[in-house]
Amino acid sequence: MTFRIPPRLIVVALVLPLFAAASIARAQAPRQPPAPPAPERFDGYQHLRVRVESVRDLRTLASLGAIEAACHGAGIGPSDFIVPPGAAALLDAAGIAYSVLNPNIQHAIDAERAAYDRARAAADAAGAWDLGAAGLRGPDWFSTYHPYDEISDFINALVQAYPALASRFSVGPSLQQRDIFGIRLRAGPPGDRPQVLLNSMQHAREWAAGSSTLWIARTLLAGYGSDPDATRLLDSFEFLIVPVVNPDGYVFSWTTTRLWRKNRRDNGNGTFGVDTNRNWGFQWGGEGSSGTTSSETYRGPAPFSEPETQALRDFVLANPRILLHVDVHTFSQFMLSPWGWTGALHPDQSLYATLNAGMKAAAESVAGSLFSAGPSYITIYPASGVMPDWVAGAAARLSWTYELRDRGEFGFVLPPEQIVPTAQEAWAAVRWASLWLLDHSLFISFAEGDPASVRAGTSTAIDFDVRRAALDPDPDSVRLYWRRGRAAPFQQAPLSTLAPGSFRATINPGPCNSVVQFFIEASTTSGLPVSYPAAGAAAPIEAVVRQFSPAFADDAEIDRGWSLGVPGDTATAGQWVRGNPVGTSAQPEDAHSGLNCFFTGQGVPGGQPGAADVDNGFTTLLSPAINLAGAADARVSYWRWYVNNTQGNYTRDDVLTVQVSADNGATWTDAEIVGPNGLGTQGGWEFASWYLSRLSPPVSPSAAVRLRFIAADIGTQQILEAAVDDVLVEAIACAGAPCPGDWDRDGAVLPADLAAFVNAWIADLAAGTLVTDTDASGDVTPADVAAFVAAWFASVSGAC
Ligand SMILES: [Zn+2]
Repeated sequence: MTFRIPPRLIVVALVLPLFAAASIARAQAPRQPPAPPAPERFDGYQHLRVRVESVRDLRTLASLGAIEAACHGAGIGPSDFIVPPGAAALLDAAGIAYSVLNPNIQHAIDAERAAYDRARAAADAAGAWDLGAAGLRGPDWFSTYHPYDEISDFINALVQAYPALASRFSVGPSLQQRDIFGIRLRAGPPGDRPQVLLNSMQHAREWAAGSSTLWIARTLLAGYGSDPDATRLLDSFEFLIVPVVNPDGYVFSWTTTRLWRKNRRDNGNGTFGVDTNRNWGFQWGGEGSSGTTSSETYRGPAPFSEPETQALRDFVLANPRILLHVDVHTFSQFMLSPWGWTGALHPDQSLYATLNAGMKAAAESVAGSLFSAGPSYITIYPASGVMPDWVAGAAARLSWTYELRDRGEFGFVLPPEQIVPTAQEAWAAVRWASLWLLDHSLFISFAEGDPASVRAGTSTAIDFDVRRAALDPDPDSVRLYWRRGRAAPFQQAPLSTLAPGSFRATINPGPCNSVVQFFIEASTTSGLPVSYPAAGAAAPIEAVVRQFSPAFADDAEIDRGWSLGVPGDTATAGQWVRGNPVGTSAQPEDAHSGLNCFFTGQGVPGGQPGAADVDNGFTTLLSPAINLAGAADARVSYWRWYVNNTQGNYTRDDVLTVQVSADNGATWTDAEIVGPNGLGTQGGWEFASWYLSRLSPPVSPSAAVRLRFIAADIGTQQILEAAVDDVLVEAIACAGAPCPGDWDRDGAVLPADLAAFVNAWIADLAAGTLVTDTDASGDVTPADVAAFVAAWFASVSGAC
């Protein structure tokens, strides 16, 4: 196999059976470039996490020459800065609190460059870089970061090693006329397969983002034919990977200023650079971007003013089959879904929430790194004019920002030993989302999970959603088919539309303790049929028809026996009270219903949001014992309000924990943990509901079930307010047991049950199963038939 390497490199012919043993030629470079000026040094510069409490604090930091040191910028709340020597003492004098994440950023920069020099020398000595996982020659290409030219060489080498799978493309030129190149990966002809777009290094200093997208490209190619996931993904998708969106800034970060973020636009006033990730033309110019040319988040003079964003925009528009897009950044370990420009939720939030949860779990499963996932604005900071908002908003694709390792110890200068582990986490998340989308043409779901119980009654509602996933649904195609019991023919339920994508089927189930079975069918706009569950009528959802009866209902208007605080609580302020709240920017002004609710700490009219919030510990709201004896399950619902810091920032660590006990408070099971980031943490009354049977571990109803709401102030200087109203606990039960003669569980004892039993008994004999072992003898015998027939006659004669 021959690698054709660009002219400045010597071409070396290798005959290797596997890419795992492949190498790239690495020349003793024939060119003699003039020695560049030495890079800017950051000796003694410290990476601080600063408690920013005001705009004045931000101005103070700017006056000290502090560099905003987070991908998403700085704001009120804990924010990262890299500050020059001596600045920390001035922050002390100004009374601005901070913690030191890295005492000397130059050490990390020196170590990073030394690692490159070592690897480069080894590559020169070996005449090659090892491109595979277990190469025979040269140092591992992923043992160091690489300058722009070497990344370009790497792309060429991949294309040459995998000509059937990979090709190079150009997105367009940068401001300084460097090529914004990419690599296209797929197995077979393009057809109409969906595309996945991964791009990185809009921000020049985020080197580990670039190495991660390159590593994903290499992993897909090297895994094709051996790794089932990589094979399936390249057989099904076309991956478009653009590792260096901002080549001018990236080159500058190597030659001159390691911590450079923006592109290299001369702003004409002595400042340089536009933040390309604030320059996109969707909601351009809003919160979380700056009109000041010196700012790290300078948005540029107009939307799409920069050649880099223009080129990538046109590339996205030219590839209308892009289904999934990830804009990869570092650092702080987030998966951020739209929107960045507003705290309002994206119309596809339920789909985004499902994918966020899956990607987070996938990334965390690699090495235990913790990621947070949620809508960008409410999970970290507002940011306007960002690429994922444009991709989701203007181009209507599924789009994310990933923030990879770490959480600030090294920040942008992540040690090279973490290149591969960081990339593995990104790959795990991308792989999970891509495979999920392959398996989900549509997103069909129930708000409270697949129903295990349905309400007895003649007109029982089953609410569900049918929304886009990989494809769009045809709303007119949605059907729910159901039947009483397990044997009757399925029938179509009358359906109404509650909201776009949300439907209500109405069924007329049998009596308590009978079962209903149902499944949903829908089509995509392209006519592809989808069933949920996937097997449709062959394996429908089965729910037991049960009575839902209120066991405890509390609108908080009168005292119904809650404990406002318990022994052991540690909060020194903001303990739970019941009453009519005085609103602040953090606390509700009105109960959810009526006058009163439970809330943490009564403020005074016109008071500050932090005046009566929870401080220095936790406070517990404990319910009285609720009698659920004899219930098969219970459903708990309530309205809650929760705010943990009205400013929103990525080091929020406070949560609201909702727990349930079935032994009168001796042991507790988590039901819901709200926060520290994302949904439900920014105030507003929100409805929550869950079933005891769905908790982990499941909780069995008892005569003394208690609920508790724990609002904890773990961090410092965070504004924390919680409120609860309209708690409802419903017992889910039937009087009596299922009728033993009702074999098909349709609620009636009929000759059909005899026939169904005999058929099942014959099936047991044939398959060796024990479904009809009525007498529990451990064997299927004629005695079972006799026992069932006796039970059937007892049932029809009125025993149940
Ligand atoms: Zn970034």
